[in-house]
Amino acid sequence: YGDANQKIDYVFKVVLIGDSAVGKSQILSRFARNEFSLDSKATIGVEFQTRTLVIQHKSVKAQIWDTAGQERYRAVTSAYYRGAVGAMLVYDITKRQTFDHIPRWHADKNIVIILIGNKCDLESQRAVPTEDAKEFAEKEGLFFLETSALEATNVETAFLTVLTEIFNIVN
Ligand code: GDP
Ligand code: MG
Repeated sequence: YGDANQKIDYVFKVVLIGDSAVGKSQILSRFARNEFSLDSKATIGVEFQTRTLVIQHKSVKAQIWDTAGQERYRAVTSAYYRGAVGAMLVYDITKRQTFDHIPRWHADKNIVIILIGNKCDLESQRAVPTEDAKEFAEKEGLFFLETSALEATNVETAFLTVLTEIFNIVN
């Protein structure tokens, strides 16, 4: 997890987007620090977190941006997206509305996008069938995974999917 004394070959900016409370900050905290909190408050001030990993013998610094609560006001600015080469579009599998809002998040079609159905540990409260999301993702040409930041399910895989795809595009 440490970035110390490492030669960096690439820096990839990836943005997290999606409705409030779907788990964006916890997905990031799981990826960047392997931590999870059940009573996370809207993170104020922290713009991004980084983690350096190795992809095909190159060190890649992932700079992951979190909306820090702005999503409530639909106030995510162009500065937030500027320079991003990847986006993670997150909804909550227990809240249908957060999935229905996905098309509102106009992510640039030229970047690598993954659709993420988070909180898959809450299977008994599921409101979005996996098939619906899979179908939507296929239609839109997006990668798709269901994750649980709580149980650390697929979080690593989701980031690796995006970062490896970006890596392959620039190489
Ligand atoms: P954000 O507003 O999209 O950044 O959402 P947060 O990361 O702040 O998470 C909102 C709430 O959902 C918090 O209470 C989290 O603890 C909870 N949460 C986040 N991810 C998961 C998950 O994978 N499973 C469960 N059960 N709860 C989660
Ligand atoms: Mg947040």
